[in-house]
Amino acid sequence: MKLLMYSVRDAEKPFATAWAEKNGHELKTIDQPLTADTVDLAAGFDGVSIQQTEGLGDTAVYAKLASLGIKQLAARMVGVDMIDLAACKQNGITVTNVPVYSPRAIAEMGVSQAMYLLRRVGEFNARMKDGDFRWSDDLISNEIYNLTVGIIGLGNIGGATAQIYKALGARVLAYDPFYNVEYEPFVEYADFETVVKSADILSLHTPLLPSTENMIAAPQFAMMKDSAYLINMARGKLVNTADLISALEEHQIAGAGVDTLSDETSFFGKKVSPDQVSADYKKLAAMPNVLVTPHVAFLTQTSIRNMVEISLNDAVAIVEGRRSQNEVRS
Ligand code: NAD
Repeated sequence: MKLLMYSVRDAEKPFATAWAEKNGHELKTIDQPLTADTVDLAAGFDGVSIQQTEGLGDTAVYAKLASLGIKQLAARMVGVDMIDLAACKQNGITVTNVPVYSPRAIAEMGVSQAMYLLRRVGEFNARMKDGDFRWSDDLISNEIYNLTVGIIGLGNIGGATAQIYKALGARVLAYDPFYNVEYEPFVEYADFETVVKSADILSLHTPLLPSTENMIAAPQFAMMKDSAYLINMARGKLVNTADLISALEEHQIAGAGVDTLSDETSFFGKKVSPDQVSADYKKLAAMPNVLVTPHVAFLTQTSIRNMVEISLNDAVAIVEGRRSQNEVRS
């Protein structure tokens, strides 16, 4: 089978090549995204894989793909909002995505940020750079096995996070409206308020929904321990950023580690000048007890390999007339 991969990053190439050799398929990788300008490049191929945030173009692109005999689009990512699903349906194109590629990657980033903050690594580092090599009573830490970790959203990533903290000896409480027996060995389920109030580390792992937007705001910061750390590896809008800044300024919590911000889309993932970053980001980044990373918790070799392999396996399945559990319903 001949497959074409659009928008291929250098980091993906070794995984793509290894997959093609292992599975005996012919695979071409190109840098450009799939658009009206590049759709003709799919001529002669059986299947297509894409990874892009920009739209594919108007319905003509989908009609063109169909006229070239392309029956599927395998997105190497979770989000498929750049794909016109109705146009795909009209043209007999099945869309697949990669909804789960490595929960452990995001879990490990959250735990790394929590440990960095808990042990005051950044603050010691900053003081040393300033010639201050003293022990400081104000930087005495707690040890993880004495602490309670609160997980909000015990799905794939929350579950992986709970497992790591449990292995480190922490007590792990979790709130999720749906009970999952798989995570029972790692957590004690509790109600939302109990988790928020009890946590020394409060780690958020829910999707962004109307019911979860601003789930951590002034009332929740008021309930949290003043020694607690908030970790948000999920979606920026789960937390009210203005209230987070106030809570940090007023020492209602000890610190925060965030991989997502509510206003991140204009500057995360880009190289920008200082005037293009948001005032909220600047305030948070200037705080010694805050860590901000640019939505990179997923960025591991395992994630990239899985995004490549899962999408290509799905492309083959659909082209061969089989089904995939990753088919996106329109
Ligand atoms: P998942 O669907 O496996 O789990 C989400 C869990 O949240 C489910 O168990 C669900 O029942 C629960 N939930 C829903 N509403 C809730 C509520 N009101 N209170 C408590 N729990 C609730 O999702 P996942 O793959 O674990 O992803 C979790 C989050 O991580 C998502 O927001 C996702 O977008 C984000 N994410 C971030 C990165 C990154 O790089 N930072 C990468 C991938 C995913």
